[in-house]
Amino acid sequence: MRLKDKVAVVTGAASGIGKEIARSFAEAGAKVVIADLNLAGAQSAAAELDSSKRRAIGVVMDVTSESQVDAGIATAVGVFGRLDILVSNAGIQIVAPLEDLPFAAWKQLLAIHLDGAFLTTRAALRHMYRQGGGSIIYMGSVHSKEASVLKAPYVTAKHGLIGLAKVVAKEGAKHGVRANVICPGFVRTPLVDKQIPEQAHKLGISEEAVVKEVMLKETVDGEFTTVQDVAAAALFFAAFDSNALTGQSLIVSHGWFMQ
Ligand code: NAD
Repeated sequence: MRLKDKVAVVTGAASGIGKEIARSFAEAGAKVVIADLNLAGAQSAAAELDSSKRRAIGVVMDVTSESQVDAGIATAVGVFGRLDILVSNAGIQIVAPLEDLPFAAWKQLLAIHLDGAFLTTRAALRHMYRQGGGSIIYMGSVHSKEASVLKAPYVTAKHGLIGLAKVVAKEGAKHGVRANVICPGFVRTPLVDKQIPEQAHKLGISEEAVVKEVMLKETVDGEFTTVQDVAAAALFFAAFDSNALTGQSLIVSHGWFMQ
């Protein structure tokens, strides 16, 4: 039980990567708060882990809303008594060439990824500093390190998360708070399923070609990364118990990007 009696908040955990991270944290002994825009999805994901609500709850949280973030983190601490781990994971994708990208879409994506990371971090730090420790994990992407066409706001936001994690690592160290970034390659979640036809349309190629020639071309084996792969990295960061591992970013991408 690597996370025995730790309390974790995972944002965007009604679906995809966040949902699997919540599941793996619960299996490792953590009490889990599933925070999502989609309350019904959050509650049902929590009920799958523990229908008694003693070890898992779902809360509504739009990560771009200061009041909803503060309220959701307060609920987590109110219900489970502490906060040890934050996974700032909620995110969306928007596929468009820069010259056609509406300003509103740019702002929406940056708000979810960057304002969301800031607001959840600030709310979590206030509890973690009082407690004397914690671990914050940001869901970056290979696009925290590399660029692709049609993804300007996403690439910008994901690069930005690395900067935020480094500042949290420096400011948080004396309080025992660590911050790290996971950078997955393509994972077959609703976020990716939605963009396959969108990319096919915008690039004028088949959906099969998007998968083979765009998404997986640079991997070492033509394979998607899985939600389990990403959850294993999250568990590693969450359970690591000292400031020796902080301010880092770990790429989990079948070798798509190597440093
Ligand atoms: P997903 O669409 O399966 O899940 C995203 C979740 O975030 C959903 O439950 C959604 O309701 C929630 N969400 C969206 N906007 C929100 C908001 N404003 N406030 C709170 N919750 C909100 O997507 P996923 O693939 O699991 O993505 C999770 C994270 O992983 C994202 O940050 C994404 O950028 C990142 N990521 C995904 C991939 C991939 O290939 N799937 C690769 C690298 C990084």
